[in-house]
Amino acid sequence: MTSNKRTRSFRILVVDDNAAIHEDFRKILVKAKHRSGDLQSMEAFLFGAANRSTISADDFEMDCAFQGKDALELVRRAVAEGRPYSLALIDGRMPPGWDGVETIGRLWEEDPDVQIVLCTAYADYSWDEIQRALGKSDSLLILKKPFDNVEILQLAHALTCKWQQQRESQLRLNKLAFYDDLTGLPNRTLFLDRLALFLELAQRFKKNGALLFIDLDNFKRINDTLGHSVGDELLKISAERLGKCLRTSDTVAGVSSNEFVARLGGDEFTVVLPEMERAEDAAAVARRISEILGQPIDIGDNQVIITPSIGIAIFPQDGDTMETLIKNADTAMYFAKRIGPNLFKYYQESMTATALKRLTIENHLRRAIRSDEFTLHYQPQFELSTGRVSGLEALLRWESPELGDVPPLEFIPVAEECGLIITIGEWVLRTACRQAATWVKKGIPLQRIAVNFSVNELTHPNFLKMIRRVLSETTLEPQLLEIEITESVFIGNEGIMAILNALKDMRLRIAIDDFGTGYSNLFRLKEMPIDCLKIDRSFLNTCGVDGGMKDGAIICAIIDMAQAMGLRVIAEGVETTEQADFLKEKHCQEVQGYLFSRPMSTQQVESYFRRLALSKNHNGQCTTR
Ligand code: C2E
Ligand code: CA
Ligand code: CA
Repeated sequence: MTSNKRTRSFRILVVDDNAAIHEDFRKILVKAKHRSGDLQSMEAFLFGAANRSTISADDFEMDCAFQGKDALELVRRAVAEGRPYSLALIDGRMPPGWDGVETIGRLWEEDPDVQIVLCTAYADYSWDEIQRALGKSDSLLILKKPFDNVEILQLAHALTCKWQQQRESQLRLNKLAFYDDLTGLPNRTLFLDRLALFLELAQRFKKNGALLFIDLDNFKRINDTLGHSVGDELLKISAERLGKCLRTSDTVAGVSSNEFVARLGGDEFTVVLPEMERAEDAAAVARRISEILGQPIDIGDNQVIITPSIGIAIFPQDGDTMETLIKNADTAMYFAKRIGPNLFKYYQESMTATALKRLTIENHLRRAIRSDEFTLHYQPQFELSTGRVSGLEALLRWESPELGDVPPLEFIPVAEECGLIITIGEWVLRTACRQAATWVKKGIPLQRIAVNFSVNELTHPNFLKMIRRVLSETTLEPQLLEIEITESVFIGNEGIMAILNALKDMRLRIAIDDFGTGYSNLFRLKEMPIDCLKIDRSFLNTCGVDGGMKDGAIICAIIDMAQAMGLRVIAEGVETTEQADFLKEKHCQEVQGYLFSRPMSTQQVESYFRRLALSKNHNGQCTTR
């Protein structure tokens, strides 16, 4: 057996048990310059110069086998190397092994595209017999020995041409079926196919690999603002960069160079690292991807920076089936995106449950406003010295038909992350103000309605406009409205002062919620145009009880400070009479908590005030204690 390693020319395989036949074919099919000196002179002698110039139009690369089994091995290897044979010339009889027909059958199982010439010395088989054995095929010709050289060369030429054309149209079809039009990267189909293979190999050879899910940050916004053709251009550039940074990644420790990049669709890409020494190596690749993708791109007069969020799942540890692995890499990416931009995260088991819950909430939240699933409940605040109701805090409630009652602490963070909080917040304000105005008209002695706003709402460019609009729509007296914001508003937020001042100019009141937990700068607090501090519930949990001295001391300090600054102070989450007594003793002005009243529905609030009015006690006296 011989093997020629040149790649440009067509590969032909000769299968014959007679070495002399190998040489005959070689003389005919392989160009003289590729053969040894004496063969060349022999050829010149046999064919003469003129003859040679007409028949050597093509040049072939030729391998030989003596037996069908050896031929099968060569065909297998050629397919695996991606350099298949175009033509096999096969002898009819090759004792002691397979005969020609059996060899053809076996070779076609390995490579159905190879063209075949069956060379027979006499009528070993009838055409009918061959068709019966191998099925009807236009890839098979029969050649009777002894054959003419020119005949061989013409056959080889015609059949390799045919093979080439079939192969090109096959490649074109493959390109359509397995590659992405826009970027030229492998598509989802090819990605799944390769991933299955990588997983199987990793399992068989006990290797680790990684699947990286890459999603470009804010791509939708870029697409919407700069237009789709710019978006396409950016995707192309990103795909190119991805390809580049992986091709050179053999510099990254422990990662083999046959990584696989694909585009799943939209701005989603995947990278498979089929072999890794350590799980940390995937992080090195992720960092490199961020760095290279994140370099500025000039588009016309604009410079755009594209950053990726990347989720990493290690196989087989994070999933030994494709489905789990993909799901987990996607989940990790989702977490990276939520915390990011421009971040990568390894998958952790705890992510799945949390991610699923968040996603479910987000999906249902989108419908909640339209389908009227929100309501407001109102929790009274009391003047501690008189027991009079001093105000109501509006608290959002969501009853989802599918998820049941979802607590605000679960859905509000999700609403903030996906931006829905803006719409929800406006709904809360409008509903609370309208309700308060109605109650005032009905003669209910309401002194104040408090509405919660998060940092994202407060710093939204349209926040002040929205407040003005709602106040004028609902005709509520502005001084009846108190805005509750948490201390975290002040952290790293320079513009906040202007917003608070504007609210004060509108004659609204401002309370700092959950005070004591947010490490606010007390010096800055002094300059803030605020009216009230709400002491966080956590300080009340232990105060007055054994070991709660520190919390008690903090409460005293906050009360004193508020008094010195001329601010009201409300203690939140009062649940026991001990707590209430402690607060009274420390001259805390106002209280709010389950001890006095739970948050109530609109109807409950109305009957509550009705009962108060009817009670023998004077107007507004707290009767729930
Ligand atoms: P928050 O502003 O501190 O509201 C007080 C929370 O404490 C409410 O929980 C209330 O039901 C609860 N609470 C009142 N008294 C007691 C008590 O004695 N013991 C205990 N353990 N809890 C008490 P809720 O309604 O679950 O609201 C939780 C948080 O969700 C609120 O904390 C607020 O930060 C947020 N939230 C509620 N409604 C809105 C809203 O409309 N907009 C915004 N941005 N956030 C809201
Ligand atoms: Ca509050
Ligand atoms: Ca609070």
